Amino acid sequence: MTTEEDKNDTVKVKFWGARGSIPVPGSRTVKYGGNTSCVEVRLPTGQLIVLDAGTGIRALGNSLNYKEGHLDITLFLTHYHWDHIQGLPFFGPAYHPNNTIRIMGIDHPELHIREIISAQMEPIYFPVSLSRLKAEIKFDIIWGKYFEIGDIRVETIEAKHLGPTLSYKISFNGKSLVYMTDTELDRNGTDSKLLDKIVAFVQGADLLIHDAQYSDQEYPQKKGWGHSTWNDSAWLAVEAEVQKLALFHHDPERSDRQVDHFLEECNEELTAKSKSTTCWGAMEGLELLL
Ligand SMILES: [Zn+2]
Repeated sequence: MTTEEDKNDTVKVKFWGARGSIPVPGSRTVKYGGNTSCVEVRLPTGQLIVLDAGTGIRALGNSLNYKEGHLDITLFLTHYHWDHIQGLPFFGPAYHPNNTIRIMGIDHPELHIREIISAQMEPIYFPVSLSRLKAEIKFDIIWGKYFEIGDIRVETIEAKHLGPTLSYKISFNGKSLVYMTDTELDRNGTDSKLLDKIVAFVQGADLLIHDAQYSDQEYPQKKGWGHSTWNDSAWLAVEAEVQKLALFHHDPERSDRQVDHFLEECNEELTAKSKSTTCWGAMEGLELLL
């Protein structure tokens, strides 16, 4: 049943960058986009959560009315590889004193999160240093497995990537999404206890955004690179009974036609195995409602 109350309860998820590794503008990537990882999560209460700060975050910033009133933004970083932090120096709200941006991420054994973000803005790389941003920028390392911020509950699990990386589960009012990118699920090679733990983490999510950089056919040449296949994503979605699956972190070499092909195959497989899961190819501008 759809009522006004139901509508007011909707969580909106919008993709601003779905590409992995490096931005790839050009005619082959017009449909799914060339910007790297960035996802906006907007709660009905107005709370704004951003997942990763790849180059897609620039356009997200431009879409926000950040010069009037106060924006309070929570940014969760999965890890600190370029394709997940490189857009931050171009995030408009960071330049306005009205705004507060809380940046949260995993502990790194060598540098504090503030130093990592600051380093990419040192004069040799970028003309504006972190200390010259006018917004209030707060940094927090995530220590616990779950915590609450504003209206959401956040759970984390370590991803299987090259270097410390987190996956996130965000829950609000009985709805949940899992953001699980830059992880090598390797369903046929991973220890079954770990697979069980991952399935339990994802179980019942309304939306799973999952690393789908390769196909099973490509994977043997890419084993150990820290990424999954679309087949892994589909397997996990079925096992964990998620409602919607978004294939994410497209390989920079992947053309729109190839992503379309992955999507077709993924939907065929899901239809064969599950009545309830639908598959989407994450693309810039795509908005999913939970
Ligand atoms: Zn990445």
